[in-house]
Amino acid sequence: MNSPLLEIKQISVSFEGFLALNDLNLVLNKGDLRAVIGPNGAGKTTFLDVITGKVAPIKGDVLFKEKSLLGQKEYRIARKGIGRKFQSPRIFENLSVQENLALSISKPKTPFSLLINHLKVKQLDEIQHLMSIVNLQSKSNIKAGSLSHGQKQWLEIAMLVGQDPDLLLVDEPVAGLTDEETDLTADLLKSLAGDHTILVIDHDMEFIRRLDCPVSVLHQGHVLKEGSMSEIEKDPLVIEIYLGQSEEEIQ
Ligand code: ADP
Ligand code: MG
Repeated sequence: MNSPLLEIKQISVSFEGFLALNDLNLVLNKGDLRAVIGPNGAGKTTFLDVITGKVAPIKGDVLFKEKSLLGQKEYRIARKGIGRKFQSPRIFENLSVQENLALSISKPKTPFSLLINHLKVKQLDEIQHLMSIVNLQSKSNIKAGSLSHGQKQWLEIAMLVGQDPDLLLVDEPVAGLTDEETDLTADLLKSLAGDHTILVIDHDMEFIRRLDCPVSVLHQGHVLKEGSMSEIEKDPLVIEIYLGQSEEEIQ
């Protein structure tokens, strides 16, 4: 059997004695799409911070392609093939959609400068492809700052895909999106899974349902339950800690 792409083993994180993550375990295989849900304060963002090297755990290990990521600097972890989308889009508002994408795919210069024209054509093709994935072809020359909130989120997802990471971490991509944009975002992430391995964090139930993928419920820094959305929804403990809350509390 293939080894997992990402293995989180018994991770605990302490903020001055408070355990934001408590013995957390999670395994992702190549091509997986996984949703992680949980109420506010459950440790979802901290969990991503541990994977990307922003926060150091006091216990446990994070294995990526069978090698530990612990103790490595954030940029090194990113270079190993882990891309992260933050909650608010990090795009260049004054550059066009096309220019943003060009920056995301630009690779370090190679000695093959003779091939530069060829590379340019290849890059233009890639930019077209990325725009088509997120349905932004008609916006290629529009400044990113004038896109809708949903389109900005998609542009950033396309920029991440352009970096071709082995693992995409996506933190609350549908916060502030319309219902229609939310559905489109779910469909987009589903279409990227398989070719990519994707971990999505959110607490929008409709969105998670539409993702139609295995779900891990996080509670007090620990995985309370894993299963399909329909299994999760029936679990009395999950209902008590999470689904029973009002929308307001969840936000
Ligand atoms: P979520 O993303 O699920 O809402 P977080 O991972 O942001 O949860 O936070 C988990 C818990 O850890 C919360 O109780 C939060 O207050 C606490 N926490 C997060 N970051 C810090 C920090 N830098 N210092 C102290 N406490 C923190
Ligand atoms: Mg969070």
